[in-house]
Amino acid sequence: MGTKIPVLVSARHLHLSQDVVDILFGKGHKLEPAGPSNGQFLSTSRVKVVGPKCSMENVAIMGPCRGFNQFEISMTDTRTLGIPAPIRMSGDIEGTPGVKLVGPAGEVELDKGVIVAKRHIHLSKAAAEELGVADGECVMLRVESEGRALIFDDIIARVGGPESVVHIDTDEGNAACVVKGTMGQIIKK
Ligand SMILES: [Zn+2]
Repeated sequence: MGTKIPVLVSARHLHLSQDVVDILFGKGHKLEPAGPSNGQFLSTSRVKVVGPKCSMENVAIMGPCRGFNQFEISMTDTRTLGIPAPIRMSGDIEGTPGVKLVGPAGEVELDKGVIVAKRHIHLSKAAAEELGVADGECVMLRVESEGRALIFDDIIARVGGPESVVHIDTDEGNAACVVKGTMGQIIKK
């Protein structure tokens, strides 16, 4: 116990290949960071997603482009859109549902890639050693918040990143009343 890790809430977002970005926004369109960034960034480009039950405008695209297409949504979004996406780790998209994307220059029908991202903790090597947590280990996390402190189970540790941070989605963040500056503590199982 002891080490406190910042908890970050990710709203629904897309990771796209350059091929798909070209179709949606026009050939050679470059994803630009919406603010200061190092590495992965929230881009200024937005797109409409069309599900069987509902459409969503202004969905954020993360940059830079990746080798595959993935749409990360919350459990609430799966109901709103009518897309029964499974809980998966990022990149594990085989057998997942697809979705239609509509950009200013064209449309793309993704045949897979819609997931509810499994909650996870990025740990630096040093932090993982200090906590005695291995890469891929399933741990619990106690989130401190104003009036809604919550212990999450089923959180996967991913060791090796530059910093330690917890990634959860908007449903999970709201359940624990996570705001800017909210911290969590790992509980080993
Ligand atoms: Zn993450």
